[in-house]
Amino acid sequence: MKAASATIPVTVIGGFLGAGKTTFVNRLLASGGSRSAVLVNDFGEINIDAGLIAGHDGATMTLTNGCICCSIGTSFVDTLSRVLDAQPPFERIVIEASGVGDPWKIAEIALIEPMLRLERVIVLADASRIVALLNDPQVGDTVRAQFARADVVLLNKCDLVDPARFFDAESKLLGIFPLKKIIKTVRGEMPALSELGDATPSLFVADSPEPKAIDHAEQFRSWSYRRAGAFDRRALTIALAALPPQLLRLKGSCRFAGEGGSAVLQLVDKVWSLSASESGSTDCGIELVGVGTADLPPASLLDALLDRALATEAVS
Ligand SMILES: [Zn+2]
Repeated sequence: MKAASATIPVTVIGGFLGAGKTTFVNRLLASGGSRSAVLVNDFGEINIDAGLIAGHDGATMTLTNGCICCSIGTSFVDTLSRVLDAQPPFERIVIEASGVGDPWKIAEIALIEPMLRLERVIVLADASRIVALLNDPQVGDTVRAQFARADVVLLNKCDLVDPARFFDAESKLLGIFPLKKIIKTVRGEMPALSELGDATPSLFVADSPEPKAIDHAEQFRSWSYRRAGAFDRRALTIALAALPPQLLRLKGSCRFAGEGGSAVLQLVDKVWSLSASESGSTDCGIELVGVGTADLPPASLLDALLDRALATEAVS
């Protein structure tokens, strides 16, 4: 056993689906300095985020198949024990919560486990969507809960909104975020940990267990789509536009007929983008994971929509 002073600092990163958590984790790792264990929780059964985390001088571990904030199961406990037992010890643990998860529920583990020290809970908000999300009858409560015990809020994608929308987003957040430390960021220009000010121990304390625990698996559904083939670019544009509004997020890697390499597809609400994959893996075909509200249409229907975008010569 290590001495009590050898506690490992834990940073928990939260934020709703599509807020920019993975980009921020990469920024933290790129700013370097410490050998980190990065634990990534994706809500779906395929862990896309871990694949999007750049290589670093530490380890990236995945926690799939559910939200760890409400189902702290054996997989999370096993992973955490491996992190705590590692030699040489990790200098920092970064946990990326799932996009529907409550980061505080994960942070509480660091408060309870004597070998860990909660450094901060950082929650990201997408300036272009946060007001609509907070007002949304289906997801508003989930989003609000994510900010309740944040130490710092990163109001991200400020470049995508005009000043009026920015002030609206900021004032809504100030109303629900008690510590009121908001840092404005734009896509791709995230602050390093050292730019967030001194890490003070979190002001919040662990709760006693709630009588009726939340279960994000009841409120949200995931959908996985895997195919060996490749998409037709034009057909994919049409298929993505036809996806139902209950699908809040879709991301993963795909290939296009007649093109080498693979692309990363990101869709948040109805806005999607493609970028070149940096992982270098080319032959994995199509692997996408989506998250939607509980009334998301069945997987067979969503599969059929995307199947229409498969390039005919590549269908398998
Ligand atoms: Zn949860």
